[in-house]
Amino acid sequence: GIRFEKVVKHFGDNVVLRELDFTVEPGERVTLIGPSGSGKTTILRLLMTLEKVNGGTIFVGDTPLSHMDRGGKLVPANEKHLHEMRKQIGMVFQQFNLFPNMNVLRNLIEGPVRVLGLSKDEAVERARGLLDMVGLADKIDAHPSQLSGGQQQRVAIARALAMQPKVLLLDEVTSALDPELVVGVQDLLRDIARESDLTLLCVTHEMHFARDISNRVLMFDKGQIVEEGPPEQIFGEPTEQRTKDFLQAVL
Ligand code: ATP
Repeated sequence: GIRFEKVVKHFGDNVVLRELDFTVEPGERVTLIGPSGSGKTTILRLLMTLEKVNGGTIFVGDTPLSHMDRGGKLVPANEKHLHEMRKQIGMVFQQFNLFPNMNVLRNLIEGPVRVLGLSKDEAVERARGLLDMVGLADKIDAHPSQLSGGQQQRVAIARALAMQPKVLLLDEVTSALDPELVVGVQDLLRDIARESDLTLLCVTHEMHFARDISNRVLMFDKGQIVEEGPPEQIFGEPTEQRTKDFLQAVL
């Protein structure tokens, strides 16, 4: 699972996270909702160690990503730990971020071969299975530029899963897609999420997707959790005024 303990993050004067505490248990599927700029993407970037905390601790499994030394200085975990941790986390971004100069197959086998040490044959077999699952078996030799946005995003999902992560992070995965492609990608992710034991942490502006994919929703504002609960409760009978206002504005 994932645990944030009193996590503080600021960019200059802009305090984005204020002593944030939350936990995602193994196998749980959690969605973060909340106004633009409230810090949701920052949480995912901290988990991927693309950003560093200014205070507090983030745990992935039992491994802290950093700790304070006796002088109160922040020390990142050693590179070997971080490498092991990153292997457990898959991420799918808004922009698909496929390797543009590699065909679909190479996009899918690169990580498993280089990082996990699979043989090429094993990696190819795994890639074929995943491409079947996302409905793109016939695109195995295509380059990303020859694919639609929806197809690219399916490849990006397959690529993340090829690493067999324990945790999958989804950051606005459909917001760059043409409207008619959104539902297909969302349905795919919902089915994957429900049929696997992946731990899922998802950021989305699409409330019906949040309702579909998660078993817990965190309503987030100004770097703190305002309200949390199962989707039926957050969307059906929110208790906090800020949640009500937010949902009224977006639904
Ligand atoms: P959105 O829903 O619009 O994606 P968000 O809730 O994901 O918003 P973040 O992207 O986490 O919000 O941004 C939170 C705040 O941090 C914003 O005020 C943003 O301007 C600021 N911020 C994020 N990344 C950086 C950075 N690299 N440098 C400076 N400020 C940043």
